[in-house]
Amino acid sequence: MALNQEVTGEVGEGLHRAMYVARPITIKQTQCMACHSTPQAAPTTMLKIYGDKNGFGWGMNETVGIQVVQVPMYYPLEKANQTFYTVMAALVGSFALLFVVLNLSLSSLVIEPMARINRKLEDLATKDFLTDLVNRRRFFERLETEMAETRAKKGSLSVVMFDIDFFKRVNDTYGHDSGDAVLKSTARRVRELLRSSDCAARFCGEEFIILLKETPVGAAMAMAEAVRARIADVPFDAVGHVSASFGVATWNHVEDAHALIKRADTALYVAKSSGRNRVAQAQEAV
Ligand code: GH3
Ligand code: MG
Ligand code: MG
Repeated sequence: MALNQEVTGEVGEGLHRAMYVARPITIKQTQCMACHSTPQAAPTTMLKIYGDKNGFGWGMNETVGIQVVQVPMYYPLEKANQTFYTVMAALVGSFALLFVVLNLSLSSLVIEPMARINRKLEDLATKDFLTDLVNRRRFFERLETEMAETRAKKGSLSVVMFDIDFFKRVNDTYGHDSGDAVLKSTARRVRELLRSSDCAARFCGEEFIILLKETPVGAAMAMAEAVRARIADVPFDAVGHVSASFGVATWNHVEDAHALIKRADTALYVAKSSGRNRVAQAQEAV
């Protein structure tokens, strides 16, 4: 490397690491020689200050010294690190915030309203709006599912069908709204007696059906009797005493859902024709 060349680099390690620039001091201007050629040529004022020993005998283009500037790197590096971590933390924080805001917006603007609409649609498709029981369509779906499970377990399953007696008379005497109130109240009484695994549905008009899981015929007859008593024994507001007739059928593991319900329905009409306000057991399937 030539002596008259500027040099930059790093020295030291760790905390003592530093950057330096070393520049040669080269005589380029002839005026310099006025003071630095010989002591005799130098001004006396300068000789008084610096003496006559050093700084003489210089020649033009001669490199007579070197200027070194050294800057410790610990502070700039520390500052750069801090800035880097601050910027990274700000970036990560911003992304995290953006992620949370996007998720919350998505949830409140899209997912929750969609879920609400879905629930509403599901209710419209499967529930009876007057009694809040499931409708006939959902009852059939549920019955098919339970029949498959009962078949697999070799268990028992029964249905209870009932129809309010002389309901037309209730409407005619007390008005349609009072009739509606009786239907709602009947549904409430049935719900209160059922287990959570059972399922009650409004079959049509003033006709209801109950699915009793894991229930053989004796227990099903007892449940039907309990519902009958709950309807007949406790007067309804505004209309007084009302009764209903019941048909009970226990699945024989062979017939389909329609045949099972048909047997319960036939038993119900036996109960009607033999005096109403009673429970009749279905005939065995032929
Ligand atoms: P039965 O003992 O033979 O069953 O006699 P019933 O009068 O109960 O039977 P019928 O089939 O003659 O009359 C049923 C009545 O139920 C007629 C219909 O207006 C009424 N009904 C059906 N659905 C509703 C409803 O949602 N609300 C009201 N208030 N009445 C209804
Ligand atoms: Mg009726
Ligand atoms: Mg009817």
